[in-house]
Amino acid sequence: MKCSYLGMKQTAKIESFAKNDTSQFREMTPVKISNMALIVHKYGGTSMGSTERIRNVAKRVAKWARAGHQMVVVPSAMSGETNRLLGLAKELAPAKPTDAYSRELDMLASTGEQVSVGLLAIALQAEGVESVSYAGWQVPIKTDNSFTKARIESIDDKRIRGDLNAGRVVIVTGFQGVDEASNITTLGRGGSDTSAVAVAAALKAAECLIYTDVDGVYTTDPRVVPEARRLHTVSFEEMLEMASMGSKVLQIRSVEFAGKYKVPLRVLSSFTPWDIDIHEEATSGTLITFEEDENMEQAIVSGIAFNRDEAKVSVIGVPDKPGIAYQILGTVADANIEVDVIIQNLSKDGKTDFSFTVHRNDFAKTVDLLKTAVLPNLGSAEIVGDTKICKVSIVGIGMRSHVGVASKMFRSLSEEGINIQMISTSEIKTSVVIDEKYMELAVRALHKAFDLDQTGA
Ligand code: ASP
Ligand code: MG
Repeated sequence: MKCSYLGMKQTAKIESFAKNDTSQFREMTPVKISNMALIVHKYGGTSMGSTERIRNVAKRVAKWARAGHQMVVVPSAMSGETNRLLGLAKELAPAKPTDAYSRELDMLASTGEQVSVGLLAIALQAEGVESVSYAGWQVPIKTDNSFTKARIESIDDKRIRGDLNAGRVVIVTGFQGVDEASNITTLGRGGSDTSAVAVAAALKAAECLIYTDVDGVYTTDPRVVPEARRLHTVSFEEMLEMASMGSKVLQIRSVEFAGKYKVPLRVLSSFTPWDIDIHEEATSGTLITFEEDENMEQAIVSGIAFNRDEAKVSVIGVPDKPGIAYQILGTVADANIEVDVIIQNLSKDGKTDFSFTVHRNDFAKTVDLLKTAVLPNLGSAEIVGDTKICKVSIVGIGMRSHVGVASKMFRSLSEEGINIQMISTSEIKTSVVIDEKYMELAVRALHKAFDLDQTGA
């Protein structure tokens, strides 16, 4: 099975099950949910937003349990709760990047999920379903000690399996774990997705279903293109590209995790009636797959992603000689600033220009850094910045085996009179940087050019 990690930022480290043999997960391919499967459900904050909604979650989970499945449920905190808790901390003291402060943030923020699991277990018991809830440390879900952005190292499946075998539904807190010194840790905002996928991997679940407030992964954001279609399946690599470029359906780390451990993952709506037919429910939403299914009609481009998170920095008139790129980009990298698209112009009279993009939050810092640390060594070079840019990308594993895809993209943009400032490509995507004011126009034009509004892909 081929599984590359194209487009992942190089600094992205994938969480690993240090203590488990990872090969045990490698054989897994998406399976049909048969009777008596082990299933993980994940419910987001909106789905857990009130006692009434929690009751609905309980009824839905009870339906799955009664159908004969072994059920593990990983909920988020009730919507708004994590923000509320973190807001309380800020009222008392401004955020500090110290371990001591971050440790307490995790102690605090993790309580949101503890409330959720307790309430859901009570709701399930009220439905007549035996159930038990656990905090991360009780499982335990072991993590490293990077407070507020911890990575999962191992999950002990013993306690959960014991309960499942005794016929109980097991509810495990999302978002949190415990480090070696028994400190509570959290996995970063949106981390419950990663918790659910990790629990599913550890238990070798047949499928991990992520119930959320959207009903799947779309060809692009339906708010920009009303004709956007829900994809029935999307490959893990495409999902990774789309998740990293602004399609905020899943925390990107959960997608990396699912890819690494081959966890069959489905994104689906939690707003369907809880008593919808279970087979209909089990095939709804978007399934994230790992192999190109030869029988499946494969679209060349599966989706259009876009974001406004980046800014462009140009260093104009630098000497065209060895070591310059390193001086500029090395300095930026040493400051822990991630660089995305890079171009260098043809040189003229021994001088050249460099442009690259960084996250908008890092823009001011980058310009400052270059002005103080790099520019003084570069003679008459100057720095020009532009924050009014956006990145638009076409994504599709079908691009690997088709030529002319990028040129079709460029033609379509030129027909709209949109000037391309930068281009970057990988095996499964082509991205362009353009003026921010043309973002929606570009996305609509590309969605149409690649027939994404047609059904059947
Ligand atoms: N409750 C956490 C958050 O709001 C984790 C999650 O919802 O996934 O970020
Ligand atoms: Mg979420």
